[in-house]
Amino acid sequence: MVDHHTRAVGEVVASLGSDDSRGLSESVAGRRLEADGPNTLPPAHGDSLLRRVLLQFHNPLIYVLLAAAAATLLLGEYVDASVILAVVLVNALVGFVQESKALAALDSLRSMARGEARVVRDGVVRTVLSDELVAGDLVAVEPGEKVPADLRLVESTELLVDESSLTGESTSVAKNDDVLAEATRVADRHNMLYAGTLVRSGAGHGVVVATAERTELGGIHRLVSGATVLATPLTSKLTRFSSLLTVVIVGLAALAFAVGLIRGESAAPMFTAAVALAVGAIPEGLPAAVTITLAIGVKRMVRRRAVVRRLPAVETLGSTTVICTDKTGTLTTNEMTVRHIWTPEGELEVTGVGYEPAGLLVHDGVAVDVADNRALWWSLAGGSACNDASVSLDGDQWVISGDPTEAAMVVVALKTQVAEEAEKDLVRVATIPFDSRRQYMATLHRATSGGRHLALAKGAVERVTELCSGWMMADGTVEPLDRSRVEEAVGALAARGLRVLATAVAAEIDPADFTADGLDQRLVLTGLQAMLDPPRASVTSAIAACHAAGIEVKMITGDHATTASAIANELGLDHRPPHERRVLTGAELTDLPHEAYDDAVAATGVFARVSPEEKLRLVESLQSRGHVVAMTGDGVNDAPALRTADIGIAMGRGGTDVAKDAADMVLVDDDFATIEAAVEEGRGVFDNLTKFIVWTLPTNMGEGLVILVAILLGSTLPILPTQILWINMTTAVVLGLMLAFEPREPGIMRRPPRAPDRPLLTTTLVWRTALVAGLLVTGAWWIFATEQSRGAGLPEARTAAVNLFVAVQIVYLYSCRSLTGASWRLGLLSNRWIIGGVLVQVGAQAALTYLPIMNQVFGTAPIEAVAWIRILAAVAVIAVVVVADKYVALRRLSRIRDGGV
Ligand code: ATP
Repeated sequence: MVDHHTRAVGEVVASLGSDDSRGLSESVAGRRLEADGPNTLPPAHGDSLLRRVLLQFHNPLIYVLLAAAAATLLLGEYVDASVILAVVLVNALVGFVQESKALAALDSLRSMARGEARVVRDGVVRTVLSDELVAGDLVAVEPGEKVPADLRLVESTELLVDESSLTGESTSVAKNDDVLAEATRVADRHNMLYAGTLVRSGAGHGVVVATAERTELGGIHRLVSGATVLATPLTSKLTRFSSLLTVVIVGLAALAFAVGLIRGESAAPMFTAAVALAVGAIPEGLPAAVTITLAIGVKRMVRRRAVVRRLPAVETLGSTTVICTDKTGTLTTNEMTVRHIWTPEGELEVTGVGYEPAGLLVHDGVAVDVADNRALWWSLAGGSACNDASVSLDGDQWVISGDPTEAAMVVVALKTQVAEEAEKDLVRVATIPFDSRRQYMATLHRATSGGRHLALAKGAVERVTELCSGWMMADGTVEPLDRSRVEEAVGALAARGLRVLATAVAAEIDPADFTADGLDQRLVLTGLQAMLDPPRASVTSAIAACHAAGIEVKMITGDHATTASAIANELGLDHRPPHERRVLTGAELTDLPHEAYDDAVAATGVFARVSPEEKLRLVESLQSRGHVVAMTGDGVNDAPALRTADIGIAMGRGGTDVAKDAADMVLVDDDFATIEAAVEEGRGVFDNLTKFIVWTLPTNMGEGLVILVAILLGSTLPILPTQILWINMTTAVVLGLMLAFEPREPGIMRRPPRAPDRPLLTTTLVWRTALVAGLLVTGAWWIFATEQSRGAGLPEARTAAVNLFVAVQIVYLYSCRSLTGASWRLGLLSNRWIIGGVLVQVGAQAALTYLPIMNQVFGTAPIEAVAWIRILAAVAVIAVVVVADKYVALRRLSRIRDGGV
């Protein structure tokens, strides 16, 4: 590897065939891209294929099944052995296929979150996908970005980089462009930026020296994000539950075996019966059902534009009680247009729409000439020169590059000649970049005429005016600043929901004083620019849906309190009556006494001028009140709050890489409505898992009990072990798993959030398991006995019992489709998978009953019409009991919810 850190920048740039102002040409870059390949690292390798296949069998329930298969094989019970093995294999196959699909979906999503980079090519700054970078490209980096390739720094200001992904060192490293000694370790090479590290603050640009696997990161193959795993708190809970269940079931089987032996039965058939009991009682579909349901949930969320980065989020989303959301870009479109400019001598209106730089500055219906008003000239010049954004024409559309707030200020300056004049007159020599803590940006310029230096600043009104001692009049003279008049003007503009930024200038300044402290009281306010950022169309209804679902929505914004509350009111964000709505600013929060903090936070809907640090405290406060908090964020400093929130949500478009890295979920379109959609899907996923559990436990228990009761009573088995295995294999896969495909229930967003600590097995569920299992066993015994008393042979009576058992499972499957009401409400045809499953099951039962080969293998026999009539009658009775039980349970639930009982 060439030691770029030991050579002067110019030498490095030249050796890469580049130019330190024009960069590479597009044609050279294109050729290099072809030769070197894209700037991406091979996908993170998780478990190998073989390991992933084997992991499908890594479950105590499956161990028991495998042991049972081996034992039956040794006993020469080939049919039993092959049926058990088939159960295991089919489940593993389904699980594997679904898991692979889910992993592939998650991986492709990860690559969707690919970054972009700003490069200079042919002397023009443009944005390209970071995949397209080649050695020799000149790349700029800014706070929040992930460095896209290994760079030798050409220039930097106060650049701080978090290199922990590379060096493990968690404190940020300061960077500069000095030449270093050859022996300098990677961690100390301060003139280099390494791919995959995160820019914390400052700015800089460098020349790409290595891409893809040739970077330090690629070289050591320590990939930034680890392998994807499909595990959530629920899956671990289920794993523990499975282990417990296995012990209970194996214990029962052993007991049954012992009882049989004591009673004098021979060992071999008793052993087969014990195995059938165990196999019947084991809910082997459970692991596959969990994987499939989560995988389907992830895919459904993607369809609704929410990318889940950590799977537990799918589950946690369902129990979210508070959503803390940013305003700009999430509740609003972040398409800014300056509508008003205020100067001490009056307010102007700006005409024109969107980013097209066409429009006029109007006062009392008359167009204003900027040349007549120095304050206005400086405000527009400040807005456009103290700025990193640009607008350009793409086809017939005006598009922006950079921050929309800044772009709006460029556009308004372009509507006059000021943008051009400022660019000609002022050469930028240094920058204090915008930072959400500082809330302003300042630039140092050299005037082309006269060579003096001047500073421009723009930002939050309170911050900028703090630094000002005076304000500028139309004739260019400076008078003492009247803060109350400024506040009044801001209040009037902000009450209309407009975002207001102040602009200021220091007409003459020593470059040495150009620091955050040095600017204090040196600035002169030139004006206020008020911009419109319209709320997103879908947000009002999404907020209403959250309220109906018992979820509170709180706005946490860096913007002004009045602007924030005007927008919040427009969107109906605070569900409290108007006189109880509260707005708190970051400063007010800091001043609150410790004891009053949590109450105040709970009672407030809008938090304005909040710093990222305060966000973290807000999350912690809400969590201390038992809330499950979803929190959005986009900036570098939002990472701690995003990590602490139960669900950190980053913005796909406007978010920084740092925020995305810290988040559990990324919104592809930055839209608040997507969060609401994801919550809805999260609730759906949890419902479907519960439905599967509610279905599988009683049916499995019933299967085990039929055999257990027979052995304990010492009677003939009403259903043979092979038949139990048949029921088990077919119903788990063909019927139960289909519940994973259930669409969301209507009214899913009209329920309160699920308490996160609610146990898997509620008392209602335990009771229902016992009831349905009891009904299954009684039904099977009843038909077995009546068929025999009618004179039917043993195989016929057993076949009738098997068919009744399966018929009840089908009816119960339908009942499980809805947890909150009658299933028929959902429409019989709304889940085609279930219809398909039921048809396959019915076909399979017909084959089992009437096909001679099946009769031979499973010991069944064709049954007569009268047996079917009895089966249907019994099923009807059982269905009535099941429906009645559900009805009573739901009534009780709604009484509890209504505050009764
Ligand atoms: P939200 O947190 O809802 O996204 P926000 O975008 O207003 O709100 P910040 O980006 O932290 O939050 O901005 C805080 C304030 O800083 C803004 O209200 C504005 O006054 C000022 N500001 C925003 N962007 C810039 C910028 N590029 N240059 C100077 N000042 C800015």
